[in-house]
Amino acid sequence: MKDKLTQRLVELTRDLILIPTTDAHPGDIERGLEFIQNHLDEIEGITIKTYRSNGVPSLLVLPENQAKPDVLLCAHLDVVSLPDDAKFRSTLKDGRIYGPGAGDMKGPLAILLEIFRDIHSRIPGASLGLLITTDEERGGQDGVEYLFRDVGLRCGLAIIPDSGSLNDITIEEKGTLHIAIRCHGPAGHACRPWLVDNPLERLTDRLREIKVFFEEWKQGDENWYPTFTITIIRTPNDASNRIPAHAEAICDVRFTPPFTRERMTGIIKEKLDKDMELEILVSAEPTSYSPDPLFLEQTKEITGKPVRLCREHGGSDARYLSFLGIPVVMSRPEVGDTHSEKEWIDIDSMVALYRIYAGYLEKKLGG
Ligand SMILES: [Zn+2]
Repeated sequence: MKDKLTQRLVELTRDLILIPTTDAHPGDIERGLEFIQNHLDEIEGITIKTYRSNGVPSLLVLPENQAKPDVLLCAHLDVVSLPDDAKFRSTLKDGRIYGPGAGDMKGPLAILLEIFRDIHSRIPGASLGLLITTDEERGGQDGVEYLFRDVGLRCGLAIIPDSGSLNDITIEEKGTLHIAIRCHGPAGHACRPWLVDNPLERLTDRLREIKVFFEEWKQGDENWYPTFTITIIRTPNDASNRIPAHAEAICDVRFTPPFTRERMTGIIKEKLDKDMELEILVSAEPTSYSPDPLFLEQTKEITGKPVRLCREHGGSDARYLSFLGIPVVMSRPEVGDTHSEKEWIDIDSMVALYRIYAGYLEKKLGG
């Protein structure tokens, strides 16, 4: 292992990966927050507070007597749910850390924890806060949304390393709809299908039609158009010769401006049979961000490469801030295979992002 900084970032990331902070392990989410709190305890001039919404904890760390920091570093501790036998371990190979959540976002979280400590020790009273939430992978309603909407948290600018890449800074994200479509009817025996209007087949027919309809929006190399993806289909049926009385599909819809949640829902509803139910599970409008030009300059200076302003297909917690007009800086180290056991993060790019943050925050907060 090379220098001390690299070593600290790698060790902290690997320690964080060991704690299985998924939905299924609320106890480990608490343990993870405790671990982070211990890590921050020795910093002087800060206050640490835990917030809870519907039982979901978040940690907010603010400089003393400053309710609205100039810069707020934001990360989520939760990782996406993985199969039961997933191993929360990490390995080092080819300059990368491999392990669940390495890129999304335990590695980036480690960078934020280290830079937060560093800046506060070098610039006493720096107007720098840190927010760690635990429900991003489930939509962020009890984390970032709760803190900004209900608690009234504000900041001058937010840094969220949960999108983009080192030189790819995110300026737009697609909107999201997760919907359940349900179809009901009489059950029947599959040997006399003419007697029953099979709800499962009716549902899959409509889904196919919606899918074909969305295909027409396909254009360009950037894939910047609405998409419709079926992720779950289920019935309570367990008999191979019975026509089920109930069928349900869960679909993931992503959309670009000028489409809105309302318009997208309307389009899908129109394609369904009158008696089918549509329930919205998660929804978010498409958003755009305005990253600080000083940050773009700093990225160029440290990496020696130009910066690209990019569009992202996934959404993130940043949408709640953009809604309030708060500028958001979103870039991150090089990561790959996110949301899988083989997820990785590139170590050199972690160090590079740390140096970008260090230079940027010094200029911005150094007074
Ligand atoms: Zn994430």
